[in-house]
Amino acid sequence: MRHTLFIADLHLDEKHTLSTQLFNQFMDNHAPQAEAVYILGDFFELWIGDDHETPYISTIKRRLKSLTEKNIPVYFMRGNRDFLIGKRFAKQTGCKILAEHSIAQVYGEDVILLHGDSLCSLDLKHMKFRKLTNNLLLRALFLSLPLRVRKKIGDSLRQSSRGHHSIVPDYLDVVPETIDHIFSTTPAQLMVHGHIHKASVFKTMLDHKPTERIVLGAWEHQGCALKWYESGKKEMLFF
Ligand code: MN
Repeated sequence: MRHTLFIADLHLDEKHTLSTQLFNQFMDNHAPQAEAVYILGDFFELWIGDDHETPYISTIKRRLKSLTEKNIPVYFMRGNRDFLIGKRFAKQTGCKILAEHSIAQVYGEDVILLHGDSLCSLDLKHMKFRKLTNNLLLRALFLSLPLRVRKKIGDSLRQSSRGHHSIVPDYLDVVPETIDHIFSTTPAQLMVHGHIHKASVFKTMLDHKPTERIVLGAWEHQGCALKWYESGKKEMLFF
């Protein structure tokens, strides 16, 4: 049956053997069956620039490329950890970069796509970080640093951030008003995002409009993907 797959928060890193294995499994068994694949952020644990090449990164890029070469489009949205993914990565892999808060049409249905960190508007520490990282000048400055300096900064960031797969604590969870606001600005009734790390589905009524929000799970103990069939049926796939 024709379907499209959505994934997020794989946090791929050389040191994360399980999520890397699960990714390989996904690329072997699941992705080739899909009509399209959407990656909604934090695909990598950390990205310090497209010019950072390692055998590990090359392998991951090759796997993505082999999929797009089969004419299976891969849409890539940056997360709060891989927000520096750039044009070179897109060119090398054939992925199409999606802007945050994109609206996609999947089998005739509008869906709001986002990584999800912007929904956690009470996470003030992160909001501050977001403001910095959204600053294009600062981004350009960071990317102009020598690779070895960026690697060092990256390593210290890795150590200071909370566990890469940990679930966002409740008090920093998504803010309902922020979600309602996004829904109120578009006719779309469905939202798909990651970042929170626990797979879940929320259905609510908003001004007589039924809305649904699907949260993708992180790949900590198992792989997780949303499988959206042409019929409109959606199911969470765990493997
Ligand atoms: Mn995230």
